[in-house]
Amino acid sequence: MGYLAEECRRAMEAGADGLHVDIMDGHFVPNLTMGPDILRAVRDELPDAYLNVHLMVMRPDIYAPRFVEAGADTVLIHVEAAGDLRATLAGIRAAGKRAGVTLNPETPVAALEGFEDLLDEVLIMTVHPGFGGQAFIEGGLAKIAEVAQRLPHVDIAVDGGITADTGARCAAAGANVLLAGSFLFRAPDMRDAIADMRRKIESARKAGG
Ligand code: ZN
Repeated sequence: MGYLAEECRRAMEAGADGLHVDIMDGHFVPNLTMGPDILRAVRDELPDAYLNVHLMVMRPDIYAPRFVEAGADTVLIHVEAAGDLRATLAGIRAAGKRAGVTLNPETPVAALEGFEDLLDEVLIMTVHPGFGGQAFIEGGLAKIAEVAQRLPHVDIAVDGGITADTGARCAAAGANVLLAGSFLFRAPDMRDAIADMRRKIESARKAGG
């Protein structure tokens, strides 16, 4: 088993609800990461894990079908990307998978207009996409609340700078999918870190109504 699949297994065994996989094409963001083969390797290793795939790519119309085929459960594309985004989202759903769009920190919620009927999830970026370890961008909280009001039946995910504390604040604002990277993978004990996150998020959601 490769290092990536091993780390994925470690997260699932520590109590994660699923795995968020960042795909970068070297164009939409400068970094370049894995292609569909590596996602397929994770899927083969963890057949039951929920795989939430975030395509930071210029041409989701080309790549979304390949990641669906490689085993993604949800495919998130960027509203700032090129091509026919409605057709791409409809194609993901036609394959029986969940579709979503992502908003960069500088992109307003109004950019979702014209896609609402094709969304199972909206991903709010609270860092600039492409690099790990950045600080949480506070402006994301107001956007979460705006999406929650506009699309009450859609899952709201948050990506970037998520810890137990920022995760709880996002949950209070209306988010229900909290994506943590460094916070969990650098924790002394991932199981404790996930349990701590879950506790704080649950109480923030109750307090937030
Ligand atoms: Zn991501």
